[in-house]
Amino acid sequence: MKSIKFYSTNLKAEVVDFKSALLKGLAPDKGLYMPLEIPTFTKEEINKFSQMEYYEIAFEIGRKFLHDQISDADLKAIVKDSYNYEVPLEKVYDRKYVMRLDQGPTASFKDFAARMMGRLMQYYLKIEGRNLIILVATSGDTGSAIANAFYGLDNIKVLVLFPEDEVTNRQRKQMTTLGKNVQIIALNAKFDDCQYLVKDAFSDSELDYLNLSSANSINIGRLIPQIIYYFYSYAKLRRSEDEEVIFSVPSGNFGDIMGGMFAKRMGLPIKKFIIATNENDEFPAFVNTGKYDKIEPSKNCLSSAMNVGHPSNISRLIALYDGVMDETGHISKSPDMKKLREDIYSTSITDEETKMMIAEAYKKHKLLLEPHGSVGWAGLQRFLQEHPEFDDKEQLCISLETAHPAKFPEQIREILNFDPELPPSLEGIEEKEEFFDSIETNYQAFKNYLKEKY
Ligand SMILES: *Cc1c(COP(=O)(O)O)cnc(C)c1O
Repeated sequence: MKSIKFYSTNLKAEVVDFKSALLKGLAPDKGLYMPLEIPTFTKEEINKFSQMEYYEIAFEIGRKFLHDQISDADLKAIVKDSYNYEVPLEKVYDRKYVMRLDQGPTASFKDFAARMMGRLMQYYLKIEGRNLIILVATSGDTGSAIANAFYGLDNIKVLVLFPEDEVTNRQRKQMTTLGKNVQIIALNAKFDDCQYLVKDAFSDSELDYLNLSSANSINIGRLIPQIIYYFYSYAKLRRSEDEEVIFSVPSGNFGDIMGGMFAKRMGLPIKKFIIATNENDEFPAFVNTGKYDKIEPSKNCLSSAMNVGHPSNISRLIALYDGVMDETGHISKSPDMKKLREDIYSTSITDEETKMMIAEAYKKHKLLLEPHGSVGWAGLQRFLQEHPEFDDKEQLCISLETAHPAKFPEQIREILNFDPELPPSLEGIEEKEEFFDSIETNYQAFKNYLKEKY
């Protein structure tokens, strides 16, 4: 097997191996790491996935990228420890399914990436005898998933910045009640502002001594784990080896969908991706017009973890289609829009539509969705209505539900008049004590905080 190296989407940084890309997070030229080559599976290899457990598929996918970076035994131990929970595939009607990625410790799909990435980082840091500070900007779920996945590790400290008005009580408590090596900062700001502070800190050489690293979906270590559930769900649901699948993915920072795009390039027969956003519709607009305009400031929508006006991973998506976009959203080389439009349908779902779909899905199918999953499901329904040639009873479609409905009790109660049952991971959290700091939203204040604290 070939060794997989990683280049920066800004094309001005050295090519590095997986370990360096993982520990650095952002490339030195502010670009995002991408594999120079995407490894592929044969049909026979994919056929075998149908008989495998989730962690076994995770091992096969991880090994394609990391075979010369970690021993088989160590990788196997890491995936087994990361994926010790269920991945329900719920049939809704015909061959239309919802994949529930909400059974991990923070009841969010981000657990999938954070757990594997945290364990891989820990593995390399131990070998090198080094320490890291993980800086995370979160619009809700990333912060809690990372904080929980890294909680209690010796070589790693975690610092999370969140916009205080944009996360739910439960999301906040999942971060602020931990303590130990986990530090939380609340900002009176938007998610994008938090992200700019983090990015500025990464490119500030005066802070090099802190060994800052990222765990946002800008880290390639987040994306490889997010390939796995695409293969898993297909392997468990397909009827024949030639069957093609449509995935619908509620998207914010586009890390989740990038996992799917890698899966397709690795050989998974994906007929179409539906990229559903909330009212932050910069990407659907781009697919329609070919012109990219970020949304500043981003809009506050019900699906709060997707309130992103300029998704970082878009530069990776553009790179997959042979274009070049820098971190500001400037496109210096156009991607192949024809190919992109063949693979992708993208649509924006309003808050009103999100609520209506939560009501309709429950009434029609007893399907319980929270706002993010509702955006994905509504995107799928719209695609099928607009494209009758795809709207076949036999067409396998999988829509991703990215959080547990119990993380959004206020919305569910308002729409459906009942309280969703809490998953075990969320029980008892209301009573725990919270710890967090607040600072002003400017880089100097943030830098001072970092220097004083660490
Ligand atoms: C983060 C998140 C998303 C968006 O995922 P991206 O990888 O940022 O596109 C969707 N739903 C939930 C619940 C999330 O936490």
